[in-house]
Amino acid sequence: MARRRIIAGNWKMNMTPSQAVELCATLKDLVKNDDVDVVYCVPAIDIVPVAEAIKGTNVKLGAENFYIEDKGAFTGEISAPMLKDAGVEYIIIGHSERRDIFGENDILINAKVKKAFAAGLKPILCCGESLALRKAGTYKEWIARQIKWDLTDVTADQVKELVIAYEPIWAIGTGETATADQAQEVCKMIRDVIAEMYDAPTAEAVRIQYGGSMNAGNAAELLSKDDIDGGLIGGAALKPDFGKIVNA
Ligand code: PEP
Repeated sequence: MARRRIIAGNWKMNMTPSQAVELCATLKDLVKNDDVDVVYCVPAIDIVPVAEAIKGTNVKLGAENFYIEDKGAFTGEISAPMLKDAGVEYIIIGHSERRDIFGENDILINAKVKKAFAAGLKPILCCGESLALRKAGTYKEWIARQIKWDLTDVTADQVKELVIAYEPIWAIGTGETATADQAQEVCKMIRDVIAEMYDAPTAEAVRIQYGGSMNAGNAAELLSKDDIDGGLIGGAALKPDFGKIVNA
């Protein structure tokens, strides 16, 4: 079964609302490609202006974070129904920056995955190892454990709609990219874990991205690998280069 490719930009804490609208205008013609899902995952304050700016284009809207409750006394947070109402389709969950800087653990991440599905949002679930785990050679066990925790009580039908982003932490924002073979090895291993947890059709359907210093120069080789169905792009998502990745 051919999986539809998905190239998502993770804007992180960049772009004021007016800069966000300008970036959408700059990228508009460069990211045109109906064979690929193109997603901008943007800061909360940019969601409404970006939703307006991408109207009538092929770009889909994503968010970078939310909290698991629908509403109430959770100062500073936004909820899944709020995102949904604003036109958000995809939500990044479990990014290493949220795990490491904001202390999000696999219990919360699993709750977020389940909440996102219940609210009609599609999670982009991030996983990946530190440099120490890569050097120790235990990275595959670590990632398999993350996937098993984060997908506890998530159904096969939901996993078929899920996007998993393999993001080695040592490659994020460092300019150091995993080689295409290293990325393929882990993306294949993740698909095998899904087959073991669910079944072969579910593993065939789940889309797996690579993320970590993907750019216009290395995207084509990474995306040529059998188990890499797209990319989660940080730095290069803020530049015209993003269009080259979409069309790589
Ligand atoms: C990311 O943070 O999701 C990411 C992949 O960043 P970069 O492309 O800048 O390494």
